[in-house]
Amino acid sequence: MTEQYKLIAKVMAVSVIAHSQADAEIANIKKVCQKGCNACCHQIVDVFTWEEPAIFKYLAKVFTAAQKKQLARNIKQWFNRFNRNTRPANRSSPLTFEEIRNVEHIFRENKYACPFLMGTSCSIYPVRPLVCRVHYQADSPNNCRIDPHITTPEDAQKVFYKAAENFDPTVFPKAKKPLAYLVAADFAHDIQSKPLQSVVYDPNNVFGRV
Ligand code: SF4
Repeated sequence: MTEQYKLIAKVMAVSVIAHSQADAEIANIKKVCQKGCNACCHQIVDVFTWEEPAIFKYLAKVFTAAQKKQLARNIKQWFNRFNRNTRPANRSSPLTFEEIRNVEHIFRENKYACPFLMGTSCSIYPVRPLVCRVHYQADSPNNCRIDPHITTPEDAQKVFYKAAENFDPTVFPKAKKPLAYLVAADFAHDIQSKPLQSVVYDPNNVFGRV
């Protein structure tokens, strides 16, 4: 087994632990979220580097041909919207994390969906990113539909930070990127994905709102 392969296997094992820990802690919190609601899937969702291998494996092993076609269409649509609302960028002037956060309100207000939302469901549910696992509502299931900028409750944010701490940044980077970027090259060859500045995990910025 090569060193690279061993590292990926280790990352996948620890990401299962991190996700399971978050799922168990969120399950203990009283919430009013309902099956079929996907209000929180209409924003720019970020994925950690350490979550990527499990998503790629799921796409390769579980996704059907029809789902792959749908994902390619969704990715194109996502980038059309993202590119329209961000400045021209190139390698010497990549988009920054702040610039991405600054257009997030457009995705929320216009209910632009995550490219992995198919019909009313998440197509990568078992391997969805950590951030998707912790968002919930405690008062009314309508809150997210009424207010696209509603924040994630503080106790859920703590669950997120704690789960992310399973990853030692000296072993595997905690960088993250918008989820759509993860599969841009594989699922939509003819789209332009603007270069991004490498973004390092900042606990103070994960749930930042503009
Ligand atoms: S990955 Fe799944 S749960 Fe997360 S925003 Fe996209 S569709 Fe929703």
